[in-house]
Amino acid sequence: MWFRRDLRLADNPALLDALSEGAGETVGLFVIDPTLWRTSGDVRRAWLIGSLNALSESLDGRLLIRTGDPESVVPDVAREYAARTVHIAADFGPYGRKRDLAVAKALGGNGTELRETGSAYAVSPGRVLKSDATPYLVFTPFYRAWSTHGWRRPVAAPAGPMPLLDPSGSEPLPAAPELGRTVLPPMGEAAATLIWDGFRKSRLAHYATQRDRPDQSGTSALSAHLKWGEIHPRTLLADLGSGAGDDAFRRQLAWRDFYADILARHPGSARNDLRPNLSHVTTDAGPTAEARLLAWQSGLTGYPIVDAGMRQLRSQGWMHNRVRMITASFLIKDLHLPWQVGARHFMHWLRDGDLASNQHGWQWVAGTGTDAAPYYRVFNPITQGLRFDPSGDYVRRYLPELGTLTGASAHEPWKLAGVVPFGYPERIVDHGVERTESLRRLRAN
Ligand SMILES: Cc1cc2nc3c(=O)[nH]c(=O)nc-3n(C[C@H](O)[C@H](O)[C@H](O)COP(=O)(O)OP(=O)(O)OC[C@H]3O[C@@H](n4cnc5c(N)ncnc54)[C@H](O)[C@@H]3O)c2cc1C
Repeated sequence: MWFRRDLRLADNPALLDALSEGAGETVGLFVIDPTLWRTSGDVRRAWLIGSLNALSESLDGRLLIRTGDPESVVPDVAREYAARTVHIAADFGPYGRKRDLAVAKALGGNGTELRETGSAYAVSPGRVLKSDATPYLVFTPFYRAWSTHGWRRPVAAPAGPMPLLDPSGSEPLPAAPELGRTVLPPMGEAAATLIWDGFRKSRLAHYATQRDRPDQSGTSALSAHLKWGEIHPRTLLADLGSGAGDDAFRRQLAWRDFYADILARHPGSARNDLRPNLSHVTTDAGPTAEARLLAWQSGLTGYPIVDAGMRQLRSQGWMHNRVRMITASFLIKDLHLPWQVGARHFMHWLRDGDLASNQHGWQWVAGTGTDAAPYYRVFNPITQGLRFDPSGDYVRRYLPELGTLTGASAHEPWKLAGVVPFGYPERIVDHGVERTESLRRLRAN
């Protein structure tokens, strides 16, 4: 059983297949792939190590760790243990797809099969199709068809003591990187299950009305657990009922499947516009653009909701969805920088950094993605702050400089006697001016 983004025992059909075929001789393998390790930020590396420690513990330490290119490591391990089959859950990302094809070919040379069972999605990419068998590019009809398509019931975790071989020659896991001021919550399957149970009991009922409020803990905070497969979306879906909160939550899980479906069909959209409709819009470069980018990355733009979001990202490796949209819009529409620059920064810092959801979340804001927000929509960072953080609690939590400002006044610190509080920057751009400039550039496209 080659674990990848499915670091759990419950509802893991590939693991069950491996155990039943292996009849007491199954080996559990995780490969630290230098290519993926190198391109991840420290936050995601730390999460992976925490999650692997948790998995290894639940396998009574019987997880074989090897480092290297899976194309050679997996066939080597298969040979070592005379494996007939290597079981995996399918990966649909551009890198994973290519890697798995190469591994399947290398294994085939030894007469070993690479067998895919299930994936990280409720409905795997490629399955939700229009009546003429073509794919959807718009979310709402995809969502309807996805709901009708349905998904299997979750399967139970293997019962009793784990019938895995005690592997020899396992490498120690790399040490988790030192994260400085970024603090991560507990990782692993048990943590994910606990979070889900708590969310379901106390917050799911209010999810539809609270999910847009960054000042409240209205969302599940399960994204990183889902990314590493510590819990499967099918497990969550099986627990949902018909309330408004349940419906809203189901819809968000469908976005995750939708973006994976889009990326699987259009691997190039990880780097380039999905739709080249805005390819002539000019973006800024040079020293001023670089200084503005640095201010955005550091949470020093002078716009409290933007700065709070960017500092939440650094302190937790996570940002509230509404604030992801506001900060993304600010980078693209107020600073006139390419979405790819912001997406790269998010991928570096996010503990849930996921190519499909991140690159298409950014393109939703940029107006180049699927059923995008109209390209001319420009989020106003002041009114968004006042609307979704009405008491100013969210911005004060991440911006200690504004700690003395009461209520909503924290969203407009410059209004106070004409000076901004000590240590908080002046606004780096005038939103009104940049909004007009953004629309001018879009019209000139
Ligand atoms: C610019 C931008 C970048 C983003 N980058 C990522 C990313 O790298 N990884 C990531 O998992 N999500 C990303 N999202 C989507 C969303 O912001 C996060 O999934 C969400 O904030 C995670 O918090 P949660 O688990 O509390 O979400 P909840 O509100 O509790 O939602 C439950 C789950 O549904 C899924 N989900 C919710 N909203 C979305 C969405 N808009 N798109 C896709 N899936 C969704 C997630 O798996 C999430 O954990 C991005 C959104 C934007 C606008």
